[in-house]
Amino acid sequence: MIKKQRNKPLKLRQLESLYKRLHASHPKQQQIEKALSNYAAGYRGEQSIDYHLTFLNPAHMIFHDLRLRNSLGYFQIDTLILTSSFFLIIEVKNIAGTLSFDPHRYQMVRKVNGTVEGFSDPRLQVKRHHLQFEKWLEQQQIPIPPIYKVVVISFPTTIIEAPSSSLEKVIHAAQLPYDILELEMQHPNLTISPKSMEQIASRLKRHHRPLDTNMVQHFEIDPGAIKSGVQCEACDEIPMKYSTGWKCAVCGHRSKNTHIKALIDCALLFQTTITNEQSCHFLGLPSRKTGTRILRSLQLKHNHKHKGRTYDLSSLLAIVPIERK
Ligand SMILES: [Zn+2]
Repeated sequence: MIKKQRNKPLKLRQLESLYKRLHASHPKQQQIEKALSNYAAGYRGEQSIDYHLTFLNPAHMIFHDLRLRNSLGYFQIDTLILTSSFFLIIEVKNIAGTLSFDPHRYQMVRKVNGTVEGFSDPRLQVKRHHLQFEKWLEQQQIPIPPIYKVVVISFPTTIIEAPSSSLEKVIHAAQLPYDILELEMQHPNLTISPKSMEQIASRLKRHHRPLDTNMVQHFEIDPGAIKSGVQCEACDEIPMKYSTGWKCAVCGHRSKNTHIKALIDCALLFQTTITNEQSCHFLGLPSRKTGTRILRSLQLKHNHKHKGRTYDLSSLLAIVPIERK
């Protein structure tokens, strides 16, 4: 049973918005394209384990992309599985080639197309998550059952060279249901009641804090270099012009609600609150009156001020409200 769905990571959505709103000739564009393709591959990798998880006992609880905080700071778990007798932490890696894991020290080497490259070892990462999660459970005064950890390689063609005796196993995604079955056989006694499971689940969801890095600041991009305006859904041109609705000057495409996507971009790239004046500027609206009408029609939460009212765009992002520094 999936208790927390995997959503497209905020970072990936920010990069997509940034990529399409930055001029192709911008000096940072190539760097952003590379980051975008890396994050997109990571996300695809995480998604690819979903099929294998459909084989699990439906009573097991699955949480994707859980970001929690203990006294030491934040940590993010790709996938967490709660069963009534043990927990399992899964770290997903989407890496092609031959991956060798050093049996004596934590080191991962990737060989692909004749090149050899070193990576930070995901076994160390999952080991760290284990300790952090244990600490979180302790702070929450939740009794700690046996916790297992596994690194899952999502590319079926990746060759894994890893010691099988290691506490942090490295496996292909297809092996995951069988490994879980084996753990179930090792722990036949149900030690956590269904009621406690539900309580832990709701606490995990309540404590989840999505990561919010401002990508514009991260790449040190001048906000002035970001194209404002509504993007045409048909030909990608920015901006569309507004009269009674949106119209693209290039392809003639018309739309009523394309401003929603532009406001989402605005929330992803700048801030999750907006005034009427800022929205008029970003959307390229002809008058404040139109701006008010558009913002009101979206039924956004606002601060109830009459002058300088700020609207909260978080509901458009459909995520837990985030605080951006
Ligand atoms: Zn167009």
